[in-house]
Amino acid sequence: MEQEFYSKNVQTDTFLAQIGNHQNPVTGSINTPIYFSTTYEHPTLGESTGYDYTRTKNPTREVVENALAVLENGAIGLATSSGMSAIQLVFSQFPVGSQIVASRDLYGGSYRYFKELEKQNIYQFIYVDDEVGFEKEITDNTAAVFIETPTNPLMREVSIEKIVVFAKKHNAKVIVDNTFYTPLIQRPLDLGADIVIHSATKYLGGHNDLLAGAVIAKSKEVGEQLGYTLNTTGAVLSPFDCWLLIRGMKTLSLRMERHEKNAQAVATFLTSDPNVKEVFYPGRGGMLSFKIKNEGSIKEFLRHLSIFTFAESLGGVESLITYPTTQTHADIPKELRESYGLTPDLLRISTGIEASEDLIGDLKFAFESLN
Ligand SMILES: *Cc1c(COP(=O)(O)O)cnc(C)c1O
Repeated sequence: MEQEFYSKNVQTDTFLAQIGNHQNPVTGSINTPIYFSTTYEHPTLGESTGYDYTRTKNPTREVVENALAVLENGAIGLATSSGMSAIQLVFSQFPVGSQIVASRDLYGGSYRYFKELEKQNIYQFIYVDDEVGFEKEITDNTAAVFIETPTNPLMREVSIEKIVVFAKKHNAKVIVDNTFYTPLIQRPLDLGADIVIHSATKYLGGHNDLLAGAVIAKSKEVGEQLGYTLNTTGAVLSPFDCWLLIRGMKTLSLRMERHEKNAQAVATFLTSDPNVKEVFYPGRGGMLSFKIKNEGSIKEFLRHLSIFTFAESLGGVESLITYPTTQTHADIPKELRESYGLTPDLLRISTGIEASEDLIGDLKFAFESLN
C-alpha cells in the first residue's frame, strides 16, 4: 500500500484538519485506521509491501510522522514514546565527550537527563542565560546547542536566528525544543535550526490523555540517521497513540488561538492585581508565569481555585496551574534555581480553552479568599 503524501500547497489550518484523510481508496474511511498489526505479509521471497515489522514502519505512525515533518517544514519526522525519548534519541547522535551549550532555564526533566549524562561522563554541558551567553560559550569545541524558547518557566525568548549564526560559525548543530510555541507560532527549522523536538504530550496532543514525543530533522541525512537509531533502540510511538496524536493535531490551530487569547486575558488581569508581584508573558502562546507577593499564601491560593487544576503539565484543553519549585523543576538544585529567578513565589499557568471570564473569575476569587 502506497501512502499518499500531503500537498504542501494548502494553508496550515486546512492541512491540520485533514491529517490522514484521502488515504484509503479501498474503504474511503475518513480517518486513518489504527494498524495494530505488528508484522506484515511478504508477497514472496525478497519482496515487501514496504511494511515489515511495526518498530521499523507502521502505516498509522507514518501518517503522523509525515504530518509532523510538513508542519515543522523538515525532511523527516519521527514519533517517539515521550518527549524525553525524543530528547534522548537526539542526544544519542553525538560522540562521547561532546560539549553541549544549553539554555539554563529548561524543562526540569531535560535538566535531570543532562545531569545524568554528565554524571556518566558522556557529555559536558554549559548553561547560558541569553544570546550574549550563547555567543560567548559556543566555540569550535561545541557539538550542539540546545534551546528552549520561550524558556521554562520564566518565559524569556531568545532569538533562534542569532544563535544559529553563532552555531554555524563553529559547525555546531542547533536543536530546539519547540513544545511551548508549536510550529503555529514558531518554526525553528525555517530559522536555521537543524533539529526540532516536541513533547507531543502537550499542545500537539492537546488533551492531557497522551504521552508522546516528536523529532523533526531539517535534512534527510540527519533524519535518516535518527530514524535508523529509533528503529534500533525502539522507543517508537504505539499505533493507538499515533492515532490519538493525529486526532489531537487536527484541532491544534483552533486550540492555539484560544490558548493564546486566554493567556493574554489572564496576563492582563494578573498585571493589575495587587497580590501579584510580577507577570512573565512574552505576548504569544498559552503559557505564562507570575510571582505572588505573599509567598506564604500559595497553599491557600491554590486551595481556593476550582476551575484551574493544580497539576503538572501543560498544553491541554483544561487550564492547569503548576508550582515549579516542587513540581516540574524540583530536580534543579535550590541555589541554582533561585540564582536565575526561579524563586518559590513563582506559579506557572497553562491556559486551556475555557471562557476567559471564568478563568479570571477563578483567580480573582482565590486572591480575594486570602486574608
Ligand atoms: C513535558 C516536556 C518535556 C518532556 O516530555 P514528556 O512527554 O513528558 O516526556 C520536554 N520538554 C518540554 C518543554 C516539556 O514541557
